[in-house]
Amino acid sequence: MYFQSKLLFEKAQELIPGGVNSPVRAFKSVGGTPIFMKHAKGAYMYDVDGARYLDYINSWGPMILGHAYEPVVKAIQEYATYSTSFGTPTELEIKVAEQIVKMVPNIDQVRMVNSGTEACMSALRLARGYTGRNKFIKFEGNYHGHADAFLVSAGSGVATLNIQAVPGVTQAVSEDTLTAPYNNLPAVEQLIADNPEQIAAIIVEPVAGNMGCILPQPGFLEGLRQLCDANGILLIFDEVMTGFRLARGGAQELFNIKADLVTFGKIIGGGMPVGAFAGRREIMQHIAPAGKVYQAGTLSGNPIAMIAGYTVLQILDEHPVIYSRLEEKKDYLVKGMREALGAAGIVHQINHVGSMLSVHFAEYPIIDFSAASGASNELFKRFFHAMLERGVYLPPSAFESWFLSNALTQEDLDFTIDATKKAIKAIT
Ligand code: PLP
Repeated sequence: MYFQSKLLFEKAQELIPGGVNSPVRAFKSVGGTPIFMKHAKGAYMYDVDGARYLDYINSWGPMILGHAYEPVVKAIQEYATYSTSFGTPTELEIKVAEQIVKMVPNIDQVRMVNSGTEACMSALRLARGYTGRNKFIKFEGNYHGHADAFLVSAGSGVATLNIQAVPGVTQAVSEDTLTAPYNNLPAVEQLIADNPEQIAAIIVEPVAGNMGCILPQPGFLEGLRQLCDANGILLIFDEVMTGFRLARGGAQELFNIKADLVTFGKIIGGGMPVGAFAGRREIMQHIAPAGKVYQAGTLSGNPIAMIAGYTVLQILDEHPVIYSRLEEKKDYLVKGMREALGAAGIVHQINHVGSMLSVHFAEYPIIDFSAASGASNELFKRFFHAMLERGVYLPPSAFESWFLSNALTQEDLDFTIDATKKAIKAIT
């Protein structure tokens, strides 16, 4: 099994650090050989050995409509003939900004960048430039990309690899990063009281998807909004994962909370490398060249990325039924998996919202990073491999969220539930 993948991984490790271009792909916490994919269509990925997998990572979120979605492929093909990059303004960039402003509440302007990391890094710089303050608050287990300031108590690969302090990130930088446990308002209040008029922003994943899928407790996001208002702090919603996934207007729409700045990535690029940050005109006007907070990019607003994302956003905008369908699929899957795990007497927690979910093997609710860290990784590991052997590709770490695509059919969901039952038998 995985014959070609094993050969490729050996070679990759000689040429690429750890054999991968992003750490979680290396299967470090679940062990085994990372599988090298060759092509994908709809809900399925096909590896270099010809095996087929039902995909629940969907490129870590972007592929909400499924892989090689025909309108996206066609649009990319057409635009590639016009040029893959101009380095000048294009009309397409206006259309994308217009589409994002139309779908997302409470934003007037958008700046395109090339990744979610860049989006969060730039939004933080803007918040600092706007408020004239240096410190900011982030939450344990939240991940906002790999810019230095965010690598304190970070989720995703940092949590998967259990890296406590990232070498190369200076103490001076980390000192301005204040952290609180997710869903813990009193801790945030304390940080604000301890650092009066020094905090520029609170950045939060409105649904945390980088320590499994963890929902905000009722009142948590509202409380952050109030604390920000009362203390002249900007509230940044990191919607790199949740944007255009939880709802047409993302978490702001779903929870009816206004953020001051919002960051995007993943879905807005339709699988191409893209990020964006957005907010009210009054704040966004501080970005260069309108203002002095400098931010730039050779390939920012790249036409191929723009047309791929624009095509996906338009489809989501025109067919909001996709969101209710995704939710129905997720509910069906969660119910089936809960029954299967419950019938086998396996203690578990399934957190879920919209088309995101995660399974933790723990007997207590998973509401923050320390709860997520206490769940059984040993069982997750065995479950992951047992599912993989049955053709279901889950995120290779319990600190990641599963993503459903609209390409999943009823048969696919039944197949997954059946695979769960068989996997449980194999591992217990
Ligand atoms: N913010 C969140 C919430 C993310 O989930 C991620 C990536 O997974 C990022 C930021 C960073 O995005 P990128 O990997 O595109 O740099």
